[in-house]
Amino acid sequence: MDLEWTDEQRALRDEVVRVATAELNRDLVRRDRQSEFSPEAWKACAALGIQGLPVPEEWGGSGADPPTVALALEALGYGCRDNGLIFSVNAQMWSCELPLVTFGTDEQRRRYLPGLCDGSRVGVQAMTEPDSGSDAYAMATTATRSAGGWALNGVKTFITNAPIADLFVVFARTAAERTIGSISAFLVERDAPGLTVGPPFEKMGLRTSPMAEVVLRDCRVPEKSLLGPMGGGLAAFTTSMDWERSFILASAVGTMQRQLERCVAYASERRQFGQPIGKFQAVSHRIAEMRIRLETARLLLHQQALRKARGLSTPADAAMVKAHLSDCFLRSSLDALQIHGGYGYMVDAELERDVRDAIAGHIYSGTSEIQRNIIAAYLGL
Ligand SMILES: Cc1cc2nc3c(=O)[nH]c(=O)nc-3n(C[C@H](O)[C@H](O)[C@H](O)COP(=O)(O)OP(=O)(O)OC[C@H]3O[C@@H](n4cnc5c(N)ncnc54)[C@H](O)[C@@H]3O)c2cc1C
Repeated sequence: MDLEWTDEQRALRDEVVRVATAELNRDLVRRDRQSEFSPEAWKACAALGIQGLPVPEEWGGSGADPPTVALALEALGYGCRDNGLIFSVNAQMWSCELPLVTFGTDEQRRRYLPGLCDGSRVGVQAMTEPDSGSDAYAMATTATRSAGGWALNGVKTFITNAPIADLFVVFARTAAERTIGSISAFLVERDAPGLTVGPPFEKMGLRTSPMAEVVLRDCRVPEKSLLGPMGGGLAAFTTSMDWERSFILASAVGTMQRQLERCVAYASERRQFGQPIGKFQAVSHRIAEMRIRLETARLLLHQQALRKARGLSTPADAAMVKAHLSDCFLRSSLDALQIHGGYGYMVDAELERDVRDAIAGHIYSGTSEIQRNIIAAYLGL
């Protein structure tokens, strides 16, 4: 695997770290406490080109290749401590922009992608329902033909970005039976009649990333809002999940690098029993494990980026990245807290927030159990 970066890629990484460090962490402890999304930080991310990374230039992005995307997101996680903001950005990129790039008509791409890239629009994907989560294709939401378009009926829950979204990629049943072709994807604008967004949910972590329920009651959308062919929802969803599981935790690699550097510095400075705590093997081995996790996570991420670039990725490859990176991020966040002792447990130290944020990695984009089911299925089990 070639991990040599070009001068251009290095310059991008340095610029993302510089801007993210300077502009994306303002007032974060308070905003996390109050579950407050930052529109300014969202726009700063867009100005930096983050939202546009996977979108071709003709639709407002930079058309970066997957290794460059991984590198930029890793840099974002190193500089930006607001995991909620990064999560919201990723949710839009992989579950709204990517299906539009892959399955949209030119008219749909022209209408939505430039605004999603420049930060003036926010996109979401609405799949999960109160009674269908891991078993996503058991959904109850329906789309039926109605005077020149479609009528959508159902309830979607846990929808990231819903409180601030302009565009919803909604999955609905267009045929009753449970077959590959029974689900379709629709582009639904926020002001579509019959669409309502519930009050924001209060979450354990990723608190700066807003989330709500979306209710569709006889929600009327025009014929041209169908994304991809009728019955093509499964392809749109699996494609977006494949990209999302590959890259949604790329930023966590940067965060783990930052945590490691902070722990090495603290273990060298903090003295107990007459010596730096890093001289105690219980502490130094914990930090060594953090380093091993960082390196294996980074290798898996960049290997997956190369696979995506070469069109060689399977759903099991993406599932492995998601499962491994989320495990590494949570365990290293716990280690960083433990190494800082009582100070690490205090909110102002900004270490406990990473633990709360990292736990979500075992649930969103398919739980860790579902990722392992996918990996096992590819092994014929
Ligand atoms: C932070 C966050 C953001 C999210 N954002 C979005 C979003 O933007 N859009 C969206 O549509 N959804 C979103 N979700 C929803 C998410 O995709 C679901 O929560 C997830 O797929 C799990 O579904 P569930 O919560 O219904 O749990 P369930 O499916 O009810 O699972 C409950 C438990 O049973 C286990 N389980 C279920 N089936 C199996 C099985 N076959 N084998 C082994 N174990 C199993 C699960 O792993 C889990 O531990 C988000 C969730 C979170 C936490």
